[in-house]
Amino acid sequence: MSRRTIIAFAVVTLLLGCFAAIAAVGTGGVSTAVITPEIHRAGNEGYFRLVVPLQGDAPSGPLSLLARVEEGDVYLVHAMASGQAREDQDEGEVAAVTQGRTMTLTGRFGKPGAARLTILARPAGGVLKPLASLKFKLPTSDVSRPDVRQSWAHQQQIAFQMADPGNSDTFSQYWNRMIAPRYGLSPTAGGDTTRFRRDSPDLYSIFTGAAAIQESLQLELLGNAPQSLSQRDAIKKATAGVPADIPLATLVGPAVKSHPFPEMLKGKNPTVPLLSAYIPADQYAVFFTDITKQLELADLMDEWGGNLLRQVETSARDFKVREKLSRQLCLENSLLTRMFGDRVIGDMAFTGSDPFLKEGTAFTVIFSLKDRDRFRKQIEKKYREAARQGGVRSEFTIDGHRGIAAVSADRRISSYTLLMGDVAAVASSKEALERIVAVAEKRLPPLAQADDFRYMRTIFPQNAGEEDIFIYLSDPHIRALVSPRWKIGEARRMRCAGNMTLLANARLWFHTEQRREPTMAELVAGGYLGPNPPHCPDHGVYAIDKKGEPYCSIHNRPGLLTPVGEIPLERITPREAAEYKAFVENYNRYWTQFFDPIGIRVKLGETIRIQTCILPLIENSWYDGLVALSGRSQGTLTEAALLPRTVISLRGHISPDWLRRTELVRALRDRNGLDLGWLGDDVALNLCDGQVLFTLGGQGLGMLGHEAGRTSSLEPLVIGYLASALNLPTYLTVKVTDPVKAEASIPTLFRALGPSSRDDEFGVETYTLENHQGKPLYVTNFTLFVVKLRLYTAVVDDRLVIASRRDIITDLMDGLAIKGKSSAPQGSMQLSVYRSAFKELAEPVSLGYQEELRHACRKNLPLAAIMLNNLGVAQEQLESSISALRGYTPYCPAGGRYLVDPSTGITSCSVHGSLGRPRQPAAGDDRSPTLQLVNSLEKVDARLAFTPDGLMTTLEIRRKR
Ligand SMILES: [Zn+2]
Ligand SMILES: [Zn+2]
Repeated sequence: MSRRTIIAFAVVTLLLGCFAAIAAVGTGGVSTAVITPEIHRAGNEGYFRLVVPLQGDAPSGPLSLLARVEEGDVYLVHAMASGQAREDQDEGEVAAVTQGRTMTLTGRFGKPGAARLTILARPAGGVLKPLASLKFKLPTSDVSRPDVRQSWAHQQQIAFQMADPGNSDTFSQYWNRMIAPRYGLSPTAGGDTTRFRRDSPDLYSIFTGAAAIQESLQLELLGNAPQSLSQRDAIKKATAGVPADIPLATLVGPAVKSHPFPEMLKGKNPTVPLLSAYIPADQYAVFFTDITKQLELADLMDEWGGNLLRQVETSARDFKVREKLSRQLCLENSLLTRMFGDRVIGDMAFTGSDPFLKEGTAFTVIFSLKDRDRFRKQIEKKYREAARQGGVRSEFTIDGHRGIAAVSADRRISSYTLLMGDVAAVASSKEALERIVAVAEKRLPPLAQADDFRYMRTIFPQNAGEEDIFIYLSDPHIRALVSPRWKIGEARRMRCAGNMTLLANARLWFHTEQRREPTMAELVAGGYLGPNPPHCPDHGVYAIDKKGEPYCSIHNRPGLLTPVGEIPLERITPREAAEYKAFVENYNRYWTQFFDPIGIRVKLGETIRIQTCILPLIENSWYDGLVALSGRSQGTLTEAALLPRTVISLRGHISPDWLRRTELVRALRDRNGLDLGWLGDDVALNLCDGQVLFTLGGQGLGMLGHEAGRTSSLEPLVIGYLASALNLPTYLTVKVTDPVKAEASIPTLFRALGPSSRDDEFGVETYTLENHQGKPLYVTNFTLFVVKLRLYTAVVDDRLVIASRRDIITDLMDGLAIKGKSSAPQGSMQLSVYRSAFKELAEPVSLGYQEELRHACRKNLPLAAIMLNNLGVAQEQLESSISALRGYTPYCPAGGRYLVDPSTGITSCSVHGSLGRPRQPAAGDDRSPTLQLVNSLEKVDARLAFTPDGLMTTLEIRRKR
């Protein structure tokens, strides 16, 4: 999303202490001038300013300047040429016309003494060249020149604005709100505060990502929430200082009924996985039939989660969830492989109380053991290794069961192991193990005996050969997730994480400015957190560790937040009660059907099959409509009358009964005497490969996705394809029971669809073309004003075909359709995408992907520029610095690297260029991992089947060999 920035006063360009990147440019041939700086100095805070005439041979026109420190204890140096106000032509690149022919340099200094700067200049669109070398002396005594101090801050603010023109990064937002006012500056260089406004985060929403919430929460802390001041004050007055005095137990969750599982189970006795006897009924569970499948899944998640899914989220941020979890648990893949190789482990399952993997969760892995001693030895060995990396070894007992642990204070290592007979559980939280023991001791109900789970196991029977992985979200689990205990607990955690985002930004600026780590007290006393430093909603205490990471004594730190279940919650504030009540109201209105337990069966291999069953929805018009349309029956979904150039095909069974009852068909019969008795029960809509004249933009798709009620990952893609297809060759085929009658009806059919009276604006005419292969071909013209749509119709074999192009029909008549396979699946409806048929479509699709990748990559540039250009972070430390600050690693999904272009001094991606000058690989370039992944697909099928058990959905992803 590009926001154009207008700089509304006299300025320029600059740049500063980014030494390494420009080392390539020499100082060659510039003579050194000795000058006297203007100074402001108070204690160890020193500021200087130099105003120097530009030499006569300086390039004319807009000029970007960059100062390189050669000697002296000076830092955060900016150099800008004076000039006239003008709009920036390119985002991210501000330029000024150098008419005054002077340049202003400002900077900070520590120790007194000699200093020397080299100034490099770059004309618009050109490269950096040495312009001048300046030598000056920094004094020991205090001098008061507030204007010099402000002058530096002003240039610093402009520097941040150039790095992040949209003010999109939380660090720029922090600096402008908290630091700029300390220098008498307004929050933005232009004094414009409107772009700060954003919607207040909804902590109780179901789909908002945690990272987005954290960022918005910081804005709220900075006093920029969109509520008006009076509103905000009113809420503050009503809730500030109000003790959390409402018992949690007074709140009730969404009122939704469960299915009558005991009744549905009557007479059935399904087999359940062994390990489900150890899993609490209100937790999610993932069962692996075979431990190698877990490894296969992990690889797949890396490949897919690491590329496609993240890209669909259009975020180029890697939260390294798998790495984080396996390090936390001391269960790396290599260990699992070894244990499997040794025949140590039998079954394996994952379980947990919440899905907050990115933020911090209690994650448990349960094993059934074949060799208990071996397992214990391997874990002991891992824990000894962990002890060398900061983990503390300890032992514990839960109900007489003895366990061992390795835990570090920051929770980067947090592994608890308990052996119960031939079952072992390894968890990142001791509380999680206590729940497992409680189940084993029969104090908590196990999943194995839960009716909803057992019922799901009758639909997806165990050991069916169709299953490698079974994921189950139980009825009580979904209920728990929306319960007041979990929702309010999570909201508090997010608020605390928002506070820590602010602390991390404050610490970063303190560290840059003072060149050492702050303590929490220094941040507060120094005004780095504003007049109202943030407080943890659970009364945790904030501190900053030796590595400069802020943490909360209760919630730990972002990305490794203390699991919700570990923090007791008994009393809540009136505000929390009000927010939760609003959430429940909303939920009862829109999301009631989501109380259904969800079972997902996965089969891995060359073709990946993912199946879920949606239990019959009660009183749901959407569901009832679909059931009626399909006539509650399944059929064989053959690929009939399918041309090889088909890229998308939607086919399904329709109930002739249902069809006959529709208004359209009834009207045709009553008004036009048209008998559609020849209609069969099978329809297909096919789109063929072709040139795309226009495509729907990503934002439009996003909106459509939202319209559909949620921003799930595949929907926008599907909708995008369908939308692009508006200008692709298309054909509809309908099965007919009587080809002769069907053909005879064609002219009447189209006439009936046209206007009843002759109309100049809208007309329909039907005629026949010369026979092809001895069969008639009908053409129908629809005219609406100047637009003419021509449809070609014929009966080919047992199908009525209506096509947007004549060659589709003639090809079908010539028998060029793909021969249907004998093993076609059963179902009610299927959408197939034939990826390998994309020929002409390949380029726009690939280009579209490349654009998505570029947009995702671009979001990392502001922070990268702030770090590299403004805060003097070294290139090789960029990833780890951002990871420490934000809890994610920025990466370019097309494989680029973030660096300062040595010839211009501008931060850019090696593949995608800078904010001001974006670049993109040609469409044919498919080196990016994401595109390789997309291209490795052959076909994707999404299938619905109405069964007495419910709606079965199957997604099949076939990969190329
Ligand atoms: Zn906290
Ligand atoms: Zn990139």
